[in-house]
Amino acid sequence: MTISQLPRKDLFDLPEGVIYLDGNSLGPLPKSVPARLNEVVTTEWGKSLIRGWNDAKWMEQPARVGNLVARLIGAPEGSVVMGDTLSIKVYQALASALEMRPERKVVLTDSGNFPTDIYMAQGLIRSLAQGHELRIAAPEEVMDMIDDSIAAVMLTEVDYRSGRRHDMMTITEKAHKAGAVMIWDLAHSAGAVPLNVAETNCEFAVGCTYKYLNGGPGAPAFIYVRPDIVNQARPALSGWMGHDAPFAFHMDYQPANNIERMRVGTPPVLQMSALEEALKVWDGVDMADIRTASIKLSEQFIAEVEAQCPQLTLASPREPDLRGSQVSFAFENGFAVMQALIARGVIGDFRAPDIIRFGFTPLYLDSGDISAAVTVLREVLESESWKDPTYQQRAGTVT
Ligand SMILES: *Cc1c(COP(=O)(O)O)cnc(C)c1O
Repeated sequence: MTISQLPRKDLFDLPEGVIYLDGNSLGPLPKSVPARLNEVVTTEWGKSLIRGWNDAKWMEQPARVGNLVARLIGAPEGSVVMGDTLSIKVYQALASALEMRPERKVVLTDSGNFPTDIYMAQGLIRSLAQGHELRIAAPEEVMDMIDDSIAAVMLTEVDYRSGRRHDMMTITEKAHKAGAVMIWDLAHSAGAVPLNVAETNCEFAVGCTYKYLNGGPGAPAFIYVRPDIVNQARPALSGWMGHDAPFAFHMDYQPANNIERMRVGTPPVLQMSALEEALKVWDGVDMADIRTASIKLSEQFIAEVEAQCPQLTLASPREPDLRGSQVSFAFENGFAVMQALIARGVIGDFRAPDIIRFGFTPLYLDSGDISAAVTVLREVLESESWKDPTYQQRAGTVT
């Protein structure tokens, strides 16, 4: 695979007339998924019934799919497991991290983190009732706020609003020097930027698979635990699937001696099967090629928007190295503009209060798509067609 072989549009089922700049929120459908899902439902479930756990290897699926994700995030075989949603994985990672530093009481995060990560930390701290404190720094102040009071640093690499990217190596190093445990959320990184989780040396990494990994709505999340500390990471959600011997049905919990201890309950086999099939689009793909192409597309987008749409203000870092694979612009009536764009087949998303956000996924986008999208954006702004009352209604809209 070389960059000249991107995009791989033929592997995706993209609707006619749509330019999809929202693969960072929900990746599109890989073409081979429906047939695979049909087979899982009709043959594996329909014919194998309960035997599917063994015959179709459903029980091993969370670890097997974990290995596919491991390759994409630079983690070794056997260090990643799938299940639940990202909110749950954030909770698990943080709970284990806090148990590893019982003498410390501070969790450090930043205001660029996605709210659910912060909410989960708040809920965990309340349940623990051990006097923990959540410190929320500004993203650019994180480095200065790391000191030896911190039990865990919990950050998302790529900011969901601006695309601003943290330096995982430098921050992890500083956290470790201060004696803190490092947790990275890779929700907007996995499948978007080259990652080397092993090299960063962080203890935990978590992420979702329905964004750049195209696993479909509700696809299971992943959790990585650094192999040398996996037996120190005590699972707070001590479900039977993380037990050393789930089918021995012991009365006492004994976690598995490997990453499978981060499993909780019965895996979502249908969702996991959709994801396992979807991950085939990465066969032979080098993340370095994806990154090169993604920077090219986003630089083109910024240049064309700034030349044609003076009404908008860039809300992402201008330096490509400091961005993930998305670009945001600020505009006071951003919500209505995005509704007008979506009505014209250019799908991105809006983030309150005024951000319109576009994701660049070189697997199925090329420079022609970018120019076409910018033309539509210019037309919407020039004609002010976003002022149409139908684009102002927010009630019940998932943005
Ligand atoms: C998308 C996203 C989530 C979503 O969590 P779910 O439990 O899968 O709904 C969490 N954290 C971050 C940083 C995200 O970008």
